[in-house]
Amino acid sequence: METNLLIQLGYVVAAGLFVFGLKMLGSPDTARKGNGISAVGMLLAIVAALLDQGIVQYEFILGGMIVGGAIGAVAARSVAMTSMPELVALFNGVGGAASGLVGVSALSIATGNFQYVTIILSILIGGVTFTGSLIAYGKLSEMIGSGAITFAGQKFVNGLIVLGILYSAAMFVTTPSDPTWLYAVVGLSLLFGVMVVIPIGGADMPVVISLLNSYSGLAACAAGFAVDNNVLIVAGSLVGASGIILTQIMCKAMNRSLSNVLFSGFASVSTTVTEVEGEIKPISVEDAYYVLEAATNVAIIPGYGMAVAQAQHVVKELMELLEANGCEVNYGIHPVAGRMPGHMNVLLAEADVPYDQLLEMDEINPRMESVDVAIVIGANDVVNPAAREVESSPIYGMPVINVSDARTVFVLKRSMASGFAGIENPLFYKDNARMLFGDAKESIGGLVREFS
Ligand code: NDP
Repeated sequence: METNLLIQLGYVVAAGLFVFGLKMLGSPDTARKGNGISAVGMLLAIVAALLDQGIVQYEFILGGMIVGGAIGAVAARSVAMTSMPELVALFNGVGGAASGLVGVSALSIATGNFQYVTIILSILIGGVTFTGSLIAYGKLSEMIGSGAITFAGQKFVNGLIVLGILYSAAMFVTTPSDPTWLYAVVGLSLLFGVMVVIPIGGADMPVVISLLNSYSGLAACAAGFAVDNNVLIVAGSLVGASGIILTQIMCKAMNRSLSNVLFSGFASVSTTVTEVEGEIKPISVEDAYYVLEAATNVAIIPGYGMAVAQAQHVVKELMELLEANGCEVNYGIHPVAGRMPGHMNVLLAEADVPYDQLLEMDEINPRMESVDVAIVIGANDVVNPAAREVESSPIYGMPVINVSDARTVFVLKRSMASGFAGIENPLFYKDNARMLFGDAKESIGGLVREFS
């Protein structure tokens, strides 16, 4: 009895630490600490679960911890920083699969309808999360192309799959002894995961990533009900709710509704012929230096290319040199810049850039007209003026950082290649835009050398 009380107390404290840690993740100043506190909560939850004899046998837990821990450690150590978003997508998927498996294992202890409902929910949501995340992984790593995959009658087919899932789930709950319905739900939900993610592509992908994150939490929550484990219910709800909030933030950042993202499909690249006027004007590092040397207000707009080039440290060096030269420097951070939520903040925090210099899109845009030079570092979609100027563009209406309002824009990229959304960028042809071609780290390194 006493052990049971201790276990429940452990769960409550762990849940409290999760809530506390999550709250601290809300600000960059406290995020690292918040992460640590949540990790301690997780350790406590695992220890409490280990003491809970009713859950599983020790040897399986230990075996799982060793195998899973080894895979996680190798993956986290060997992954390139640029592949982090794919890894996160994969982890979401593995989380979903784990919840589904917990649901399957709970079958042996299920006694009533409520448990059967929660079991089928964990299997269903877990299955959708698993295959959906695998597709998201493929799209992020560009193994299967980042565009939307659509075909005639797609919505109809999806509707049939949903009906099939609902019917099979209802049959499972009423006749749990017949495994056919369980297999049907497993198969259909795995298929549905693929079907819901393939039509989403291009600039809409951030919404999918955060939605899958939320699903993985909901699957864990359902699994928690299935095995009657309070800490799993709490942790799953927290992930589910924060994922939904993040999804809303991402939708707002793209000025799209969730249903529009999920059901309308990002326009395919071939339909987006943007008539671009003007010509490309390359600039050398030396000439760019002369312009920057005279600037009193500079805005740095980082994007995915900064992560690829790992240019964050040298960017900070340039910032310090500009400031020493009497120039005000701010960073403009677009909510969907990079390949995962908060990607740019994480990179710049790693380089110890002060948080108060990171301005959100809504803060930096009104100031853009007073900026002498906007330096776009490996960003493309998030600074694409087609979003405001070209009605036929698939990103039309998406708020972007209005760098072309600055007096001069330097665009640092290697070629004229498009960004993740696969669409042309009229910014590069604007009168006040200069292209500084090359790897961002090398180009900025060149500017730093000119300054010093
Ligand atoms: P983009 O993908 O639009 O553009 C990145 C640019 O970086 C490319 O045009 C590329 O051009 C350049 N680049 C790549 N490597 C280097 C390098 N070594 N040096 C210099 N430049 C380089 O990035 P944005 O950040 O502007 O936009 C993010 C996009 O990703 C949006 O479409 C968003 O919707 C999507 N997305 C975002 C997610 C998120 O959660 N944040 C998740 C999934 C997708 P070049 O090859 O010519 O160098």
